[in-house]
Amino acid sequence: MAVAVPMAEATRRFTSEPRKLLIGGEWRAALSGKTFETYDPATGAVLATVAEGDAQDIDLAVAAARRALDGPWGRLNPSERGRIVHRIGDLIMEHADELAELESLDNGKPKAVAAAADIPLAADLFWYMAGWATKLNGGTINPSVPYMPGAEFHAYTLREPVGVVGQIIPWNFPLLMAAWKLGPALTTGCTVVLKPAEQTPLSALRLAELMLEAGVPDGVVNVVPGYGETAGAALAAHPDVDKVAFTGSTEVGKLIAQTATGNLKRVSLELGGKSPNIVFSDADVDAAIAGAAQGIFFNQGEVCSAGSRLYVQEDQFDRVVEGISTAASNIKVGHGLDPSTEMGPLVSQEQFDRVTRYLSIGEQEGNRATAGGSAIEGDGWFVQPTVLVDATADHTIVREEVFGPVIAAMPFSDVDDLARQANDSAYGLAAGVWTRDISKAHLLAKKIKAGTVHINSYHVFSAELPFGGYKQSGWGREMGEEVLNNYMETKSVIVGL
Ligand code: ADP
Ligand code: MG
Repeated sequence: MAVAVPMAEATRRFTSEPRKLLIGGEWRAALSGKTFETYDPATGAVLATVAEGDAQDIDLAVAAARRALDGPWGRLNPSERGRIVHRIGDLIMEHADELAELESLDNGKPKAVAAAADIPLAADLFWYMAGWATKLNGGTINPSVPYMPGAEFHAYTLREPVGVVGQIIPWNFPLLMAAWKLGPALTTGCTVVLKPAEQTPLSALRLAELMLEAGVPDGVVNVVPGYGETAGAALAAHPDVDKVAFTGSTEVGKLIAQTATGNLKRVSLELGGKSPNIVFSDADVDAAIAGAAQGIFFNQGEVCSAGSRLYVQEDQFDRVVEGISTAASNIKVGHGLDPSTEMGPLVSQEQFDRVTRYLSIGEQEGNRATAGGSAIEGDGWFVQPTVLVDATADHTIVREEVFGPVIAAMPFSDVDDLARQANDSAYGLAAGVWTRDISKAHLLAKKIKAGTVHINSYHVFSAELPFGGYKQSGWGREMGEEVLNNYMETKSVIVGL
């Protein structure tokens, strides 16, 4: 799996120097002087050295964010703020090729995938959010106060930024997750301390440079790479942070929620999933096969909303399993910079160990692989795209989030019981339904407890569509108009006339 294409000059420059923390508009080393390394997951080789922020650096960053909130950022008018946010999107697209390459090298995903999905989605998020900056209006309200007969009032609501926001993001879509978080925070006038995942800090650091270039004032966005247990935990616990927004594992999400009770900071969480993808016999079965394959294998399966439980109506089960197994076997796995690569390695040794452990648990519990089933020998953290059958509702592979290219396929016969099966999960992030019967599709969409239900489609992301989870998949929504509520307080002002 050698690198087929050498990295571009811009990437070489960015990765050859130790990267620093951005605090108050200055690039600085960690106070401890410590650094950590990021790796090219396709080779295991060191990619770059990055300053390792911890609690002391978080303190500095939070203080800088507080000063910026009380300073020039708070005084910009909405149109000015919106134009800066819009410019961030423009600069992302101007640097699209470089960002796609950086993302591919740090995360492992194919550069072509990053260029087609991650980068334009990130830009579009900023463009979409920019438009909201001038439309964050409150309302005029006419109060009825029973114990003040005859009294007249003029009342209105103000929508104000929640304040200093801590944002902790994962490694699966490093730039896009930064965009999902930063876009609404900036649009609403908040200031931010962002902690990227330790596996993939590079694109967020490059984005921070572009944000300064776009005119984001010093201290409005601070970026502190570091580990979760140190930098991340300090940010979630910080008494001067007004809100924490987290995307990552359900396990850590629960810790964040507990930690945040210290000062009762606002919390939004976008967590794990075990999403059902349901294929009825009356579907366009070939489209369903392609959609189910993309639903699990896109981004190496490292997607919280991956369709990892496949339910197929009995009489089409063999055909669908054969189709998705063929698709899995045909996927070209390789280095992300090789233009022919369709799937890259998993992000880290830890993630590789996690996915291969699930593959052996599946084998022990009697799941049979009709495609893949094991790691790929050699350098890098590669595993085979895998389809498992002989799975039942109590199996680990059906209950737990693998976060890798592994799907469990199960036949169903009882249509009336299907919603119960689909909802038989601690999670509720997404679902897919494949059928030509529109009323069946919409009825099921109502019954499924998930934040996103796809009908005859899967993995449709767009800045306009709210995204997030029911149950243990999280609190609140990302994107769309909805996300703005995560970043604003509403104030009622009442004038007695
Ligand atoms: P994974 O285990 O797949 O890496 P995590 O939920 O652990 O997913 O990581 C998502 C993000 O949460 C990363 O930025 C990570 O550093 C951070 N993180 C991990 N543990 C903690 C913690 N205890 N407190 C705050 N942030 C954390
Ligand atoms: Mg973890």
